[in-house]
Amino acid sequence: MSKTIFITGGAGFIGSHVVRLFVTKYPHYRIVNIDALTYAGNLENLKDIQAAPNYVFEKVNIVNPEEVTAAFNKYQPDGIIHLAAESHVDRSITSPLDFVYTNVIGTVNLLNAAKELWKDQYPGKRFHHVSTDEVYGALGTTGFFTEETKYDPHSPYSASKASSDHFIHAYADTYELPVIITNCSNNYGPNHFPEKLIPLMIHNIIHNKPLPVYGDGKYTRDWLYVVDHARAIDCVFHEGKTGEKYNVGGLNEWQNIDLVKLLCKQMDEKLGHPAGTSDKLITFVKDRPGHDLRYAIDASKIKNELGWTPSVTFEQGLSLTIDWYLANKEWLDHVTTGDYQQYYNNQYNSS
Ligand code: NAD
Repeated sequence: MSKTIFITGGAGFIGSHVVRLFVTKYPHYRIVNIDALTYAGNLENLKDIQAAPNYVFEKVNIVNPEEVTAAFNKYQPDGIIHLAAESHVDRSITSPLDFVYTNVIGTVNLLNAAKELWKDQYPGKRFHHVSTDEVYGALGTTGFFTEETKYDPHSPYSASKASSDHFIHAYADTYELPVIITNCSNNYGPNHFPEKLIPLMIHNIIHNKPLPVYGDGKYTRDWLYVVDHARAIDCVFHEGKTGEKYNVGGLNEWQNIDLVKLLCKQMDEKLGHPAGTSDKLITFVKDRPGHDLRYAIDASKIKNELGWTPSVTFEQGLSLTIDWYLANKEWLDHVTTGDYQQYYNNQYNSS
């Protein structure tokens, strides 16, 4: 094997797509999936590649520095693609400290381990931190986040990710660690845990349950198909300039209510329901505190400098996503049993 790459959070939503892409595209790399398997981590996401000769899974909680150091000593990685995180804004509002532990302390533990292992011998080494556009705060009705936009996080989730981004820069400035950051907009696609908007709506339409839409539904997000995010990470990891950051997005803004209506339309068509059936399930619920009105990414740097562009339109990606959930009802049933029910009731049935 020519290189060993750690992909942290590889059992999660985006991480599983990055692992699959790297394992299949780079058979000469050894890909080590570093994951604690929290409620969001699921090795079923990788069952198609788990027997590949260049794939290894290592259960590690990144909050624990001894576990992190042991994994670095065992595998001696040349590169790290860091996705492991607590990722759900609503959970960060009820349990902010979990986000500090994993997103901040976990990231610093990985940085320390990389610094210790590489000992200033940096040629061929790279620490790629995967972050979010939510670090930039909220936009009004116009404008875009660029790589120069000042950080202004509003939720405990975005504050923890902003903090981790700052540590990444600090290790570059202080120790010259070869880092790179990507800040991406909202992802959607297969393997997405059904606490997030799109899979939650698909799950509830399948089960004829209300479709909870926050506030007046006017919140606007830029959506990117997860496979295109994985392609962007591959592109930046291999071609990006050390020390730089790259915004990743689909130039594809949707107000939540319009997105839910498009999804209802596609679901009705695919399920053979009369038009308008799923729309009747839409229910407006109490707003999330500190809810940011609009996020929108200017992704011209990654497009112009590295030639990356999304491969599917939103309508195509959404259709592929719905097809995947309809073909994988077992996966959906499995992840929505147990703790999920309690989370769901607390979130949507408590008032
Ligand atoms: P996810 O919640 O689906 O997966 C997170 C993974 O990290 C899970 O496999 C989980 O088991 C693992 N993990 C959590 N805590 C851990 C710990 N202490 N030690 C080791 N592993 C741990 O998240 P996701 O949506 O796939 O997001 C992945 C990354 O991409 C995150 O860093 C997130 O901030 C970032 N991101 C997500 C989006 C999005 O729309 N989902 C957009 C931009 C950036």
